[in-house]
Amino acid sequence: MTATLTAAERGTLRTQLEARRGVLRAELQAKLNSHDNPALLALRNRMEETDDWAVADLETALDIAEVARDAAELREVEVAFTRMHDGSYGTCLDCTAPIPFARLEANPSASRCIACQEKAEAGRRHGSASL
Ligand SMILES: [Zn+2]
Repeated sequence: MTATLTAAERGTLRTQLEARRGVLRAELQAKLNSHDNPALLALRNRMEETDDWAVADLETALDIAEVARDAAELREVEVAFTRMHDGSYGTCLDCTAPIPFARLEANPSASRCIACQEKAEAGRRHGSASL
């Protein structure tokens, strides 16, 4: 099925994706660099010395969750660029229906229509609950 996006709409979304990719890359870079940050290392050492493991674990977990979220979003953005190249951008991955411009404008890296996205998320929640 052909995407219903006009060339102008596609251009708008590409600009949004490029901006988002720049922000995500900068955030990830900053977070990765912060691991060599002496202040952060000193804080970690102090937590180890005071045996305050709960706080240290919490900090580490938050850090990793944030990096994982950014990395996952960046991957979605990269997939959107790939789909722009192969011409499938703007159509649903699962049912191939055109994704409305309003949905893409709110989330330019959306790869599914709303109905299929909800099904995919329900499946993921179910899958992770059974682990
Ligand atoms: Zn769909």
